[in-house]
Amino acid sequence: MASVQAILSGGVGPNGSTEAAQIAEVGAKALEVLRKTISVDVHTHGGPQGIYSPAPPNGNLAAGMRAGSLAAVCLSEIPDEPLLGRNAAGVTSITRSPRAGELYAHHLERLAWVDAMVTHHGLLRALTAGDLESAHASGQPSVIGGVEGLDFMEGKLERLEEAHQRGIRAAQLVHYTPNDIGDFQTGVVTHDGVTEFGAEVIRACHRLGMVVDVAHATEQTAKAAARVSSKPLLLSHTALVGSRAMASTRLAARCVTPDHARAVAETDGAIGIWAIFESLDKYVDGLKEMAEIVGVDHVCVGTDQQVVPGALQDYSQWVNLIAAMLRGGFTSEEAGKIAGGNYMRVLRAAVG
Ligand SMILES: [Zn+2]
Repeated sequence: MASVQAILSGGVGPNGSTEAAQIAEVGAKALEVLRKTISVDVHTHGGPQGIYSPAPPNGNLAAGMRAGSLAAVCLSEIPDEPLLGRNAAGVTSITRSPRAGELYAHHLERLAWVDAMVTHHGLLRALTAGDLESAHASGQPSVIGGVEGLDFMEGKLERLEEAHQRGIRAAQLVHYTPNDIGDFQTGVVTHDGVTEFGAEVIRACHRLGMVVDVAHATEQTAKAAARVSSKPLLLSHTALVGSRAMASTRLAARCVTPDHARAVAETDGAIGIWAIFESLDKYVDGLKEMAEIVGVDHVCVGTDQQVVPGALQDYSQWVNLIAAMLRGGFTSEEAGKIAGGNYMRVLRAAVG
Protein backbone atom coordinates (compact mmCIF):
# COMPACT_ATOMS: atom_id res chain seq x y z
CA MET A 1 0.00 0.00 0.00
CA ALA A 2 1.32 3.47 -0.89
CA SER A 3 2.07 5.80 2.00
CA VAL A 4 -0.26 8.51 3.16
CA GLN A 5 2.23 11.28 2.38
CA ALA A 6 2.97 9.98 -1.10
CA ILE A 7 -0.68 9.85 -2.04
CA LEU A 8 -1.54 13.17 -0.38
CA SER A 9 1.31 14.79 -2.29
CA GLY A 10 0.06 13.15 -5.48
CA GLY A 11 3.54 11.79 -6.15
CA VAL A 12 2.80 8.09 -6.39
CA GLY A 13 0.02 5.64 -5.94
CA PRO A 14 -3.03 4.50 -7.78
CA ASN A 15 -4.19 7.98 -8.73
CA GLY A 16 -7.90 8.30 -9.13
CA SER A 17 -8.61 4.85 -7.69
CA THR A 18 -10.96 4.13 -4.84
CA GLU A 19 -7.98 2.96 -2.78
CA ALA A 20 -6.18 6.28 -3.32
CA ALA A 21 -9.29 8.22 -2.31
CA GLN A 22 -9.71 6.13 0.86
CA ILE A 23 -6.07 6.47 1.83
CA ALA A 24 -6.19 10.22 1.19
CA GLU A 25 -9.29 10.57 3.35
CA VAL A 26 -7.82 8.61 6.28
CA GLY A 27 -4.50 10.41 5.82
CA ALA A 28 -6.20 13.80 6.00
CA LYS A 29 -7.99 12.69 9.20
CA ALA A 30 -4.70 11.48 10.67
CA LEU A 31 -3.03 14.81 9.96
CA GLU A 32 -6.00 16.57 11.57
CA VAL A 33 -5.48 14.43 14.72
CA LEU A 34 -1.82 15.48 14.77
CA ARG A 35 -2.71 19.15 14.33
CA LYS A 36 -5.04 19.00 17.32
CA THR A 37 -2.90 16.76 19.54
CA ILE A 38 0.60 17.13 20.93
CA SER A 39 1.78 13.71 19.83
CA VAL A 40 4.67 12.10 21.68
CA ASP A 41 6.83 9.02 21.29
CA VAL A 42 7.21 8.44 25.02
CA HIS A 43 10.38 6.32 24.75
CA THR A 44 12.95 6.48 22.00
CA HIS A 45 16.68 6.47 21.45
CA GLY A 46 16.31 8.50 18.27
CA GLY A 47 17.02 6.01 15.51
CA PRO A 48 20.21 4.31 14.29
CA GLN A 49 22.31 7.46 14.64
CA GLY A 50 20.60 8.46 17.86
CA ILE A 51 21.70 8.56 21.44
CA TYR A 52 22.64 4.85 21.43
CA SER A 53 25.28 5.58 18.82
CA PRO A 54 28.82 6.89 19.28
CA ALA A 55 28.26 9.16 16.25
CA PRO A 56 27.71 12.86 16.95
CA PRO A 57 24.10 14.08 16.72
CA ASN A 58 22.67 15.13 13.35
CA GLY A 59 19.47 16.60 11.94
CA ASN A 60 17.81 13.29 10.96
CA LEU A 61 15.65 13.09 14.05
CA ALA A 62 14.12 16.56 13.61
CA ALA A 63 13.68 16.00 9.87
CA GLY A 64 11.87 12.69 10.39
CA MET A 65 9.63 14.20 13.05
CA ARG A 66 8.68 17.06 10.73
CA ALA A 67 8.01 14.65 7.86
CA GLY A 68 5.67 12.53 9.99
CA SER A 69 4.11 15.42 11.98
CA LEU A 70 5.37 14.04 15.30
CA ALA A 71 5.45 16.86 17.89
CA ALA A 72 7.77 15.46 20.55
CA VAL A 73 9.97 12.56 21.56
CA CYS A 74 11.12 11.53 24.99
CA LEU A 75 14.76 10.83 24.10
CA SER A 76 16.29 8.43 26.60
CA GLU A 77 19.95 8.16 27.31
CA ILE A 78 21.19 4.87 28.74
CA PRO A 79 23.69 5.17 31.59
CA ASP A 80 24.47 1.42 31.63
CA GLU A 81 24.86 1.22 27.84
CA PRO A 82 28.65 0.56 28.08
CA LEU A 83 27.90 -2.68 29.98
CA LEU A 84 25.27 -4.13 27.66
CA GLY A 85 25.65 -7.23 25.55
CA ARG A 86 23.80 -10.49 25.03
CA ASN A 87 23.81 -13.56 27.23
CA ALA A 88 23.93 -17.13 25.92
CA ALA A 89 20.19 -17.08 25.24
CA GLY A 90 20.56 -13.95 23.08
CA VAL A 91 18.85 -11.78 25.69
CA THR A 92 20.21 -8.33 26.52
CA SER A 93 22.09 -8.22 29.82
CA ILE A 94 25.15 -6.62 31.30
CA THR A 95 28.42 -8.36 30.48
CA ARG A 96 30.34 -7.05 33.49
CA SER A 97 29.89 -4.91 36.59
CA PRO A 98 30.38 -1.15 36.31
CA ARG A 99 33.48 0.51 37.71
CA ALA A 100 32.84 3.19 40.35
CA GLY A 101 31.81 6.41 38.60
CA GLU A 102 31.76 4.80 35.14
CA LEU A 103 28.02 5.05 34.51
CA TYR A 104 27.87 8.58 35.93
CA ALA A 105 30.62 9.61 33.48
CA HIS A 106 28.74 8.00 30.58
CA HIS A 107 25.51 9.71 31.68
CA LEU A 108 27.21 13.14 31.70
CA GLU A 109 28.76 12.47 28.31
CA ARG A 110 25.34 11.57 26.83
CA LEU A 111 23.77 14.68 28.41
CA ALA A 112 26.37 16.69 26.51
CA TRP A 113 25.32 14.81 23.35
CA VAL A 114 21.72 15.94 23.95
CA ASP A 115 22.93 19.51 24.54
CA ALA A 116 24.66 19.41 21.13
CA MET A 117 21.51 17.96 19.56
CA VAL A 118 19.25 20.75 20.81
CA THR A 119 21.80 23.49 20.10
CA HIS A 120 22.60 22.53 16.51
CA HIS A 121 19.99 20.18 15.07
CA GLY A 122 16.57 21.77 15.08
CA LEU A 123 14.98 20.33 18.21
CA LEU A 124 13.57 22.42 21.02
CA ARG A 125 14.21 21.14 24.54
CA ALA A 126 10.87 20.99 26.33
CA LEU A 127 11.11 21.47 30.09
CA THR A 128 7.39 21.88 30.79
CA ALA A 129 4.06 20.96 29.24
CA GLY A 130 3.76 24.64 28.31
CA ASP A 131 6.96 24.39 26.25
CA LEU A 132 5.40 21.49 24.32
CA GLU A 133 2.20 23.44 23.75
CA SER A 134 3.95 26.47 22.28
CA ALA A 135 6.34 24.34 20.21
CA HIS A 136 3.42 22.36 18.79
CA ALA A 137 1.52 25.55 17.98
CA SER A 138 4.49 26.80 15.95
CA GLY A 139 5.26 23.45 14.30
CA GLN A 140 8.59 23.07 16.10
CA PRO A 141 9.59 19.47 16.95
CA SER A 142 10.70 19.07 20.56
CA VAL A 143 12.59 16.71 22.77
CA ILE A 144 11.92 15.74 26.38
CA GLY A 145 15.00 14.50 28.22
CA GLY A 146 14.81 10.97 29.58
CA VAL A 147 17.16 8.61 31.34
CA GLU A 148 16.78 4.82 31.09
CA GLY A 149 17.85 3.51 34.47
CA LEU A 150 19.07 5.55 37.42
CA ASP A 151 22.27 3.53 37.70
CA PHE A 152 24.33 6.72 37.37
CA MET A 153 23.15 7.89 40.81
CA GLU A 154 25.24 5.41 42.84
CA GLY A 155 23.11 6.27 45.86
CA LYS A 156 23.54 10.05 45.51
CA LEU A 157 20.21 11.90 45.38
CA GLU A 158 21.94 15.13 44.34
CA ARG A 159 22.74 13.51 41.00
CA LEU A 160 19.00 13.29 40.31
CA GLU A 161 18.70 17.00 40.98
CA GLU A 162 21.64 17.65 38.67
CA ALA A 163 19.98 15.57 35.93
CA HIS A 164 16.84 17.67 36.35
CA GLN A 165 18.88 20.85 36.01
CA ARG A 166 20.38 19.42 32.82
CA GLY A 167 16.89 18.97 31.33
CA ILE A 168 15.92 15.42 32.28
CA ARG A 169 12.16 15.17 32.86
CA ALA A 170 11.63 11.38 32.79
CA ALA A 171 13.41 9.00 35.15
CA GLN A 172 13.22 5.25 34.55
CA LEU A 173 14.03 3.59 37.86
CA VAL A 174 15.76 0.44 36.62
CA HIS A 175 17.26 -1.02 33.44
CA TYR A 176 19.68 -3.98 33.14
CA THR A 177 22.10 -3.20 35.97
CA PRO A 178 21.27 -4.21 39.55
CA ASN A 179 20.77 -1.03 41.59
CA ASP A 180 19.69 0.05 45.05
CA ILE A 181 16.21 1.21 43.91
CA GLY A 182 14.24 -1.84 42.75
CA ASP A 183 14.24 -5.07 40.74
CA PHE A 184 14.22 -5.38 36.95
CA GLN A 185 12.37 -7.97 34.87
CA THR A 186 15.41 -9.67 33.34
CA GLY A 187 17.48 -9.78 36.53
CA VAL A 188 17.67 -11.58 39.84
CA VAL A 189 15.03 -10.37 42.33
CA THR A 190 16.78 -9.00 45.41
CA HIS A 191 14.60 -6.18 46.75
CA ASP A 192 11.06 -7.63 46.48
CA GLY A 193 9.69 -4.23 45.52
CA VAL A 194 11.12 -0.75 46.02
CA THR A 195 13.85 -0.05 48.57
CA GLU A 196 13.68 2.78 51.09
CA PHE A 197 16.15 4.65 48.88
CA GLY A 198 13.93 3.89 45.88
CA ALA A 199 10.97 5.44 47.70
CA GLU A 200 13.12 8.50 48.40
CA VAL A 201 13.99 8.67 44.70
CA ILE A 202 10.31 8.56 43.71
CA ARG A 203 9.49 11.35 46.17
CA ALA A 204 12.45 13.37 44.82
CA CYS A 205 11.10 12.93 41.27
CA HIS A 206 7.76 14.32 42.46
CA ARG A 207 9.47 17.23 44.19
CA LEU A 208 11.75 18.09 41.27
CA GLY A 209 9.13 17.53 38.57
CA MET A 210 10.08 14.35 36.71
CA VAL A 211 7.91 11.57 35.32
CA VAL A 212 8.63 8.26 37.09
CA ASP A 213 8.96 5.49 34.51
CA VAL A 214 8.63 1.90 35.70
CA ALA A 215 9.60 0.26 32.39
CA HIS A 216 11.85 -2.78 32.97
CA ALA A 217 10.74 -3.01 36.62
CA THR A 218 9.34 -6.32 37.84
CA GLU A 219 5.61 -6.49 38.51
CA GLN A 220 6.33 -6.44 42.24
CA THR A 221 8.57 -3.36 41.91
CA ALA A 222 6.07 -1.55 39.65
CA LYS A 223 3.27 -2.24 42.15
CA ALA A 224 5.41 -1.05 45.04
CA ALA A 225 6.25 2.12 43.06
CA ALA A 226 2.52 2.65 42.48
CA ARG A 227 1.94 2.50 46.25
CA VAL A 228 4.73 4.98 46.97
CA SER A 229 3.91 7.35 44.13
CA SER A 230 1.38 10.15 44.53
CA LYS A 231 1.58 11.02 40.81
CA PRO A 232 0.68 9.07 37.67
CA LEU A 233 3.33 6.55 36.62
CA LEU A 234 4.56 5.85 33.13
CA LEU A 235 5.54 2.39 31.90
CA SER A 236 7.08 3.62 28.69
CA HIS A 237 7.84 0.59 26.51
CA THR A 238 6.38 -2.89 26.65
CA ALA A 239 3.56 -5.06 25.25
CA LEU A 240 0.94 -7.33 26.76
CA VAL A 241 2.33 -10.70 27.77
CA GLY A 242 1.32 -13.38 25.23
CA SER A 243 0.43 -10.67 22.69
CA ARG A 244 -1.18 -12.26 19.64
CA ALA A 245 -0.31 -9.24 17.53
CA MET A 246 3.41 -9.41 18.24
CA ALA A 247 5.64 -11.98 16.60
CA SER A 248 7.81 -13.95 19.01
CA THR A 249 10.59 -11.78 20.40
CA ARG A 250 13.63 -12.28 22.55
CA LEU A 251 12.15 -9.42 24.61
CA ALA A 252 9.28 -11.62 25.84
CA ALA A 253 10.51 -11.26 29.43
CA ARG A 254 9.93 -7.51 29.11
CA CYS A 255 6.18 -7.87 28.50
CA VAL A 256 3.65 -7.18 31.27
CA THR A 257 0.68 -9.09 32.67
CA PRO A 258 -2.80 -7.53 32.78
CA ASP A 259 -2.40 -7.02 36.57
CA HIS A 260 0.95 -5.32 36.12
CA ALA A 261 -0.55 -2.97 33.50
CA ARG A 262 -3.60 -2.24 35.67
CA ALA A 263 -1.41 -1.24 38.63
CA VAL A 264 0.20 1.44 36.46
CA ALA A 265 -3.12 2.55 34.92
CA GLU A 266 -4.66 2.89 38.40
CA THR A 267 -2.19 5.68 39.22
CA ASP A 268 -3.90 7.51 36.29
CA GLY A 269 -0.74 6.55 34.43
CA ALA A 270 -0.04 5.31 30.94
CA ILE A 271 1.55 2.28 29.30
CA GLY A 272 3.61 2.77 26.15
CA ILE A 273 3.54 0.02 23.56
CA TRP A 274 6.78 -0.50 21.67
CA ALA A 275 7.05 -0.84 17.88
CA ILE A 276 8.13 -4.49 17.80
CA PHE A 277 5.38 -5.56 15.38
CA GLU A 278 5.58 -6.75 11.79
CA SER A 279 3.43 -3.95 10.39
CA LEU A 280 1.66 -0.77 11.46
CA ASP A 281 -1.65 -2.68 11.42
CA LYS A 282 -0.21 -5.27 13.82
CA TYR A 283 1.14 -2.42 15.95
CA VAL A 284 -2.40 -1.05 16.18
CA ASP A 285 -3.59 -4.53 17.22
CA GLY A 286 -0.94 -4.39 19.98
CA LEU A 287 -2.31 -1.02 21.14
CA LYS A 288 -5.81 -2.49 21.14
CA GLU A 289 -4.74 -5.49 23.22
CA MET A 290 -3.52 -3.12 25.93
CA ALA A 291 -6.53 -0.77 25.59
CA GLU A 292 -8.83 -3.74 26.19
CA ILE A 293 -7.09 -4.34 29.53
CA VAL A 294 -6.53 -0.82 30.89
CA GLY A 295 -8.83 1.37 28.76
CA VAL A 296 -7.98 3.75 25.96
CA ASP A 297 -7.11 6.54 28.43
CA HIS A 298 -4.04 4.63 29.64
CA VAL A 299 -2.24 3.59 26.45
CA CYS A 300 0.47 5.51 24.62
CA VAL A 301 3.21 4.94 22.08
CA GLY A 302 6.79 4.23 23.23
CA THR A 303 8.50 2.84 20.16
CA ASP A 304 11.92 2.13 21.74
CA GLN A 305 13.30 3.11 18.36
CA GLN A 306 15.92 1.85 17.31
CA VAL A 307 16.69 -0.96 19.69
CA VAL A 308 14.98 -3.69 17.70
CA PRO A 309 13.46 -3.97 14.25
CA GLY A 310 9.84 -2.95 14.17
CA ALA A 311 6.94 -1.34 12.38
CA LEU A 312 8.12 2.23 12.85
CA GLN A 313 11.63 2.50 11.47
CA ASP A 314 11.62 6.26 11.03
CA TYR A 315 9.39 9.10 12.12
CA SER A 316 8.19 9.99 8.63
CA GLN A 317 5.91 6.97 9.29
CA TRP A 318 4.29 8.56 12.35
CA VAL A 319 1.28 9.94 10.45
CA ASN A 320 0.86 6.49 8.89
CA LEU A 321 0.67 4.97 12.36
CA ILE A 322 -2.16 7.39 13.22
CA ALA A 323 -3.87 6.51 9.91
CA ALA A 324 -3.53 2.81 10.83
CA MET A 325 -5.18 3.54 14.22
CA LEU A 326 -8.12 5.14 12.41
CA ARG A 327 -8.34 2.29 9.88
CA GLY A 328 -8.15 -0.16 12.77
CA GLY A 329 -11.26 1.25 14.44
CA PHE A 330 -10.02 3.89 16.88
CA THR A 331 -11.91 7.18 16.66
CA SER A 332 -10.00 10.41 16.04
CA GLU A 333 -10.40 11.27 19.72
CA GLU A 334 -9.05 7.88 20.83
CA ALA A 335 -6.14 8.07 18.37
CA GLY A 336 -5.28 11.51 19.76
CA LYS A 337 -5.26 10.17 23.32
CA ILE A 338 -2.98 7.27 22.40
CA ALA A 339 -0.73 9.41 20.20
CA GLY A 340 -0.04 11.91 22.97
CA GLY A 341 -3.02 13.06 25.02
CA ASN A 342 -2.60 10.38 27.67
CA TYR A 343 1.12 11.04 28.03
CA MET A 344 0.51 14.79 28.28
CA ARG A 345 -1.80 14.13 31.24
CA VAL A 346 0.99 12.19 32.99
CA LEU A 347 3.55 14.87 32.14
CA ARG A 348 1.35 17.74 33.34
CA ALA A 349 0.75 15.98 36.67
CA ALA A 350 4.41 15.12 37.23
CA VAL A 351 6.31 17.99 35.63
CA GLY A 352 3.80 20.83 35.26
ZN1 LIG B 1 14.31 -0.39 27.51
